[in-house]
Amino acid sequence: MGRALNRSLWEETAPPASPRASLDGDLDVDVAIVGAGFTGLWTAYYLARADPGLRIAVCEAEVAGFGASGRNGGWCSALFPASSSSLAALSDRTAAMAQHRAMRESLDEVDRVLGEESIDAQFAHGGTISLARNPAQLARARAEVDAARSWGRGEDEIRLLDAGAAREVLAGASVHGATYTPDCAAVHPLRLARGLADTVVRLGVRLFEHTPVLAIGPGRLVTPSGVVRADTVVRATEGYTVSLPGEQRRLVPIYSLVIATEPLGPDLWERIGLRRRETFTDYRHLIVYGQRTADDRIVFGGRGAPYHFGSRIRPGYDRDERVFGRLREALVDLLPVLSRTSISHSWGGCLGVPRDWCASVGLDRGTGIAWAGGYVGDGVSTTNLAGRTLRDLVLERDTELVRLPWVDHQSPRWEPEPLRWLGVNAGLRTMAAADVEERLTGRPSRIAGLVSPLVG
Ligand SMILES: Cc1cc2nc3c(=O)[nH]c(=O)nc-3n(C[C@H](O)[C@H](O)[C@H](O)COP(=O)(O)OP(=O)(O)OC[C@H]3O[C@@H](n4cnc5c(N)ncnc54)[C@H](O)[C@@H]3O)c2cc1C
Repeated sequence: MGRALNRSLWEETAPPASPRASLDGDLDVDVAIVGAGFTGLWTAYYLARADPGLRIAVCEAEVAGFGASGRNGGWCSALFPASSSSLAALSDRTAAMAQHRAMRESLDEVDRVLGEESIDAQFAHGGTISLARNPAQLARARAEVDAARSWGRGEDEIRLLDAGAAREVLAGASVHGATYTPDCAAVHPLRLARGLADTVVRLGVRLFEHTPVLAIGPGRLVTPSGVVRADTVVRATEGYTVSLPGEQRRLVPIYSLVIATEPLGPDLWERIGLRRRETFTDYRHLIVYGQRTADDRIVFGGRGAPYHFGSRIRPGYDRDERVFGRLREALVDLLPVLSRTSISHSWGGCLGVPRDWCASVGLDRGTGIAWAGGYVGDGVSTTNLAGRTLRDLVLERDTELVRLPWVDHQSPRWEPEPLRWLGVNAGLRTMAAADVEERLTGRPSRIAGLVSPLVG
């Protein structure tokens, strides 16, 4: 891997952040938000746009975009972590279909706001190609298309490609076929986060950085430098939620790690494809995700880093040389033309996983405490939907958004330790083993199905 930089590619290629003061004394506002990732920032944005008179404060422990929002793979997709069948089980088929429609619309909404607020997040709406690289993966690709059809989704939403058509989009090795969906855009996530932060501040939102919230209660946030009193308090802390009192078993922080190549020349791109900056993956169990960046690199990430006992989060966990090495191997295995390409950056971060893998958003009217999160690896666009939904909940608007099935959904708590550690790590290892088994045998692994409820 050579000397890959510790800083993420996104940090290296985003305009410098505007430094902001921390909270200094007590404060009274209408809405107080904890966390300046996409969830907190979209919520502040839509509230400020809907009611410019509203007094809104955001308290961020580090700086805006510090968390998953500034580090992710940049897939702004219509993916939602829970399947339509799971959502239908929570509500009904019509509501599950409405959720899917709302997810698709979120992409266009993100694009619209980027234009309206002049945020250059290098948004490229090229769709996603998901390669099938052995017969077992091809069976899953077919099953996904069949399932989509059963939900009334046609060729305009997802279609099966044969090996030749798949290689036209992305000339990977051992391609048996693929699915293609137009419902994804590649973005530069930190440009998006910083652009949103600048926008909300311009709209009058008070954004305090280096202001950790020690406790959230009805009508108040407690920080080391003052108490913020508010009618509504919004928890937007995702993978870091575990650090708040009483929230240890709400979401498990799972690490996802990422590498970036040096910029690739036109000859290599001629051989690889991704001409419309399509995002890409394959049908393995242990998720990988890639994008062609605006400056012609490949950013490629995946799970596989261990879950840490007690849901611990440490800066050191962002880096795991073995996982970075495995990601590079997986990338070269997919695209052997990259065998001599250097990796210029590697980084990681934690995402938030609820016990039932169903993201949720809600407002408890009794306490005035609202939340959104549990997006697993699908938060880039889902946070936008969360922000608009929280706006409607806080402003008591009776809209279609507040009737979607994820609203007010309560995921069960995770098991106490050591069960959590045993279960999650066993799940992660089993998924990796299932991929090896399928590669060797070509047949769908049966062990993967046993643990998928734990690791997706
Ligand atoms: C490596 C990686 C790759 C990913 N790839 C994709 C992808 O390609 N597509 C996709 O859709 N999703 C992806 N995700 C998931 C996506 O990034 C997240 O779902 C999304 O960014 C969540 O946004 P958020 O604002 O809820 O959380 P975060 O961005 O994590 O923000 C939470 C913020 O809260 C702050 N905070 C936490 N606790 C406190 C406290 N007590 N006081 C004050 N502040 C606090 C944190 O410092 C942080 O800034 C990925 C995630 C990771 C880690």
